[in-house]
Amino acid sequence: MSDDIKSIHEFDLNLICEYFAQVERQGPGSPEITRKALGFVEGLTDESRIADIGCGSGGQTMTLAQAVPGTITGVDLFQTFIDLFNRNAAGLGLQDRVRGVVGSMDALSFADEELDLIWSEGAIYNMGFERGLNEWRKFLKPGGTIAVSEASWFTEERPAEINDFWMSEYPGIDTIPNKVAQLQKAGYVPVATFIVPETCWIDHFYAPQVEAMERFLEKHKGNPAAEGFIANQRHEMKLYHKYKEYYGYVFYIGKKR
Ligand code: SAM
Repeated sequence: MSDDIKSIHEFDLNLICEYFAQVERQGPGSPEITRKALGFVEGLTDESRIADIGCGSGGQTMTLAQAVPGTITGVDLFQTFIDLFNRNAAGLGLQDRVRGVVGSMDALSFADEELDLIWSEGAIYNMGFERGLNEWRKFLKPGGTIAVSEASWFTEERPAEINDFWMSEYPGIDTIPNKVAQLQKAGYVPVATFIVPETCWIDHFYAPQVEAMERFLEKHKGNPAAEGFIANQRHEMKLYHKYKEYYGYVFYIGKKR
């Protein structure tokens, strides 16, 4: 990473929130891929309890809610996202089954063995894949399912530029076989693993940001923090296009043993 490129962790969280509130999704994914992952989940009923952790404004949660029965609780650290989430749920008439609450993924208030399904797209990295898998397991009923998407290496080796970028952003990134081993070790039977396709990054995540970046820069003209943040987002996007054969998001689906 060059000296003028900062880690996302160094930016003002309010600015990050305001920026990502402009787009439907805060991470790579798509309705098709959410439904594909759901295809590996069995036995949900009207009584099922589902959590979507790090739900953001709920792009994937609304897809989930339209595809499965049961009640869904979305949890996110930021009120801005939860307000949008609850507005989106109400707009789709889902408010009786889908509710967003503010909370931190490392201090969840679910009861032991309360949940049938834990969902989390592009968010478990905030506490780390292994730690999240280990700490969330107790909330699942025996035989319950966890489905998370997580940044992963596709190859054993990769160019230094992209390796260094990820090591500074998220040192927990690892190869798919290593992640599956971590899932198994945390007490789940690995049910399925698949790569989230490029279109989820390019069309569903980055494309909507092009206009959002312009709007954001216009609003925060002359604000170095906002300009620096957008420069970083553009750098990340450029790196994805350059190195997408080496990394991406992978869905990991496991059943609690
Ligand atoms: N799942 C959404 C999606 O795929 O569009 C959002 C993914 S976004 C990359 C990561 C999300 O995790 C953000 O909405 C962020 O606010 C949330 N987050 C970060 N730290 C968190 C924490 N400690 N507890 C709960 N949510 C957190």
